[in-house]
Amino acid sequence: MSTVVFVKEQRLQERRCSCLPNNVKTLVELGMSVYVQKGIGKTLHIDDSKYIDAGAIIASSRKKLLSVADYVLSIHPLSQKDLNETKLEVCCISFFDPFNSPELIEWLRISGRSSLSMELIPRSSRCQKMDALSSQASLAGYVMVAEAMLALPKVFPMMMTPAGTIKPTKVFVIGAGVAGLQAIATAKRLGASVVAYDTREAVAEQVRSLGAKFLNIDLGNTGQNEQGYANALTSEQIELQQKAQAQCIAESDVVITTAQVFGRKPPLLIKNNVIALMQPGSVIVDMAAESGGNVEASVAGKTTIYNGVTIIGTGNWSSKVAYHASQMYANNLQALLQEFWRPQAQKVELDIADEILQSALITHQGELINLNFKALHTKALNSAETH
Ligand code: NAD
Repeated sequence: MSTVVFVKEQRLQERRCSCLPNNVKTLVELGMSVYVQKGIGKTLHIDDSKYIDAGAIIASSRKKLLSVADYVLSIHPLSQKDLNETKLEVCCISFFDPFNSPELIEWLRISGRSSLSMELIPRSSRCQKMDALSSQASLAGYVMVAEAMLALPKVFPMMMTPAGTIKPTKVFVIGAGVAGLQAIATAKRLGASVVAYDTREAVAEQVRSLGAKFLNIDLGNTGQNEQGYANALTSEQIELQQKAQAQCIAESDVVITTAQVFGRKPPLLIKNNVIALMQPGSVIVDMAAESGGNVEASVAGKTTIYNGVTIIGTGNWSSKVAYHASQMYANNLQALLQEFWRPQAQKVELDIADEILQSALITHQGELINLNFKALHTKALNSAETH
């Protein structure tokens, strides 16, 4: 029987958790032994008794829980102190931010522990129910619009009143992936006039189907990889994009940037000279502020003012709607465990030949598994050695 452990999140400001009582019920009914840390649902006002009623074993000692786990599941990766308490055969499942955590990954590999990174779940129909990047990004898109709405001293919809006519707020969304499309849909629902841009022309139709306009910028060859992720632009293309979108930014009340290139630093798309063209009181929300920023003036974790423009880089977006973010993330984890549950063996078994695990497993029995990550990681370690 597999022992599956869900621990409390330890990061400041994190209100989400990795498991709700209904997930416990499903996993226990399958045959898993489910342990949760006491108080896991406290930030969501879910009492421990609900987890117990669903079949979980509750323990207050984190150390003890970690020591019995075959699988430890969380949102953020375990700390080094926590990892030291786990069995060598454990598999830790969380967002690992693997491209920015080379030392942690190397430690996991050398120690022989397995790590499964939720960022590396493939983008395929089979994996949609496990796709935590998408579930959290979609909520982030919604939250970013809500944050912009509260910071902007204007209303979003057009209003024709005896006291005068109010024009709809102009929103420009840069990057129309999962988060961007949800931001577009949310801003439209609130009555804003929305324009969007993405380097992947394939999304123009999706943008239009939400009732927004697509800004056409000819950058030449852009495209996407087989997973649907955008290819990185050349520096000339980025410069071209910065120039071509400047007027649209200057005319917008709200700009929301969600542009990412998987496994790389996000592209810098809005420089300070363009922010200076915006009307004071306007708002920019930079989804990427914490990982380098799409906006030159954004500050990770903070809301700042530049030239009269409010720039929101607070991050941790989905945690602001913690209940639904937890529900979706916990369902993603549940689907992953169900996928590898083997009823005859009454165990979760990691078949590393499976395409999901070939992508999502970073370390397993002393090896690096995800090939893209392995190539980058080996290169980074070699270059660290030669310097
Ligand atoms: P992401 O977070 O990596 O990037 C966000 C968006 O930024 C993308 O749309 C990307 O094209 C865009 N971008 C990159 N550079 C840009 C630039 N210079 N200017 C403007 N935009 C830029 O991507 P994501 O939102 O996680 O997903 C991207 C795509 O992956 C989806 O739209 C979809 O096609 C695909 N996807 C597929 C599945 C599935 O099949 N299960 C699930 C989720 C996503």
